[in-house]
Amino acid sequence: MRVYNFSAGPAMLPLPVLERARSELTDWQGSGMSVMEVSHRGKAFVETARRAEATLRELLAVPANYRVLFLAGGATLQFSAIPMNLAPPGATVDYVHTGAWSKKALGEAGRYARVNVAADAKDSGYFAIPPEASWRRDPSAAYLHYTPNETIGGVEFPFIPDSGSVPLVADCSSTILSRPLDVARFGLIYAGAQKNIGPSGLTLVIVREDLLGRARDGTPSVLDYRAVAAEGSMLNTPPTFAWYLAGLVFDWLKGEGGLAAMERRNREKAETLYRYIDASGFYSNPVAPACRSWMNVPFRLAVAGLEQRFAEEAAREGLTNLEGHRSVGGMRASLYNAMPLEGVRALVGFMSEFARRNG
Ligand SMILES: *Cc1c(COP(=O)(O)O)cnc(C)c1O
Repeated sequence: MRVYNFSAGPAMLPLPVLERARSELTDWQGSGMSVMEVSHRGKAFVETARRAEATLRELLAVPANYRVLFLAGGATLQFSAIPMNLAPPGATVDYVHTGAWSKKALGEAGRYARVNVAADAKDSGYFAIPPEASWRRDPSAAYLHYTPNETIGGVEFPFIPDSGSVPLVADCSSTILSRPLDVARFGLIYAGAQKNIGPSGLTLVIVREDLLGRARDGTPSVLDYRAVAAEGSMLNTPPTFAWYLAGLVFDWLKGEGGLAAMERRNREKAETLYRYIDASGFYSNPVAPACRSWMNVPFRLAVAGLEQRFAEEAAREGLTNLEGHRSVGGMRASLYNAMPLEGVRALVGFMSEFARRNG
C-alpha cells in the first residue's frame, strides 16, 4: 500500500516512475542487466544521460549558453564548490540569510571568501523575506547567493532578486521544477535531487558558460565546473541510477504537462492547505502570507504536546512524515510535485477531524 508521504526529503516520487523503474530493474533495455550494472561510458547509458539532460533543458527552457552538470555530493557540497569556483581568494561574496539553509551555505562560504550578509531576516524571526530595497550588497561581490525556498522554515522568495551585473546564485533544492523559472536571470542554479528531481546522491548545477574556468588553485577536479562540464559530467563515475531515475521523473513531468501544469497544481495544493490552516482556529502557520512556501508548509497546533499524537494518528491513516524539522519542532507538510491534490485533501480531512476531537 502506498502512503501519502509528506517528507521534506528524500521525498515522495511519482508512482508511474517507480513502476517503470521496477519493470526494467533486472533487464534494462534488453541488456540482461540493470541500469546500475552497466558502464556509464557505454552507448546505452550515455544516450539515457543525454536524453535526461535534453528533457530537463526543455522543461526549464534552459538557454543554450548554460551548461547542466549532474554531480554527486548533495547540495551541501555545492556550498563549498560555489565559492571555490566563483570567488577568487580574498574576494567578497554576498549572501542573503533567510533561514537554516542559507545560514549553512554562508557558513561554508566563509571558509573560502569574505562573506557579506547583504540581508538578514532575523527581525521577522525568519518568517519573511527582507525587502530588496533594504539589502546592503557589496558592489564588488563575486556573486550574490540566496535560497529561493527555505525548506525548514517554509519561507519562499516571492521575487527573483535583481543582482545587476553580479552573478546571481540560487540554492533551488526544494523548489526547482515546481513551476517555470527564468533561468537567464541566474549565473548558477543548484539543487540536490531528493526533493523534486529523484533519489539522493545527485545534484544538478545549471551554470552560465562564462562562469566556467574560474576555479581557484587547489579546487579538486571533480568540483571544478569547467573540468566536469568538459567531460559531460563523466569526469569520474556519476551517480548513474539517480541520473537515470531523474530522467524518468523529467519524462513524467513532461507527460503531465510540464512546469506550467505543475505550477497550477502546486498553487492549488498550497492554497488548499493554507486556506484550511488559516480558517481552522486550531492550526497556525507563522510565515508572512506573501512569503509562504508552496513546497513546505510548517504548522503548529493550538494545544501543546499533541504533536506526537498527531503524527502517529496521521500515519495510521496513511499520511506520513508530518513531523517538523528536529530544529524547530511543530509539524510540516511537504508538497513537492509528486504529492497529488488528493493527498492534500486527505491531510486536510484528517486535520479537521483531529482538531474536532482535540480542540
Ligand atoms: C535539502 C536541502 C539542502 C541539502 O541537501 P543535501 O543534498 O542533503 O546536501 C540544501 N539546501 C536546501 C534548500 C535544501 O532543501
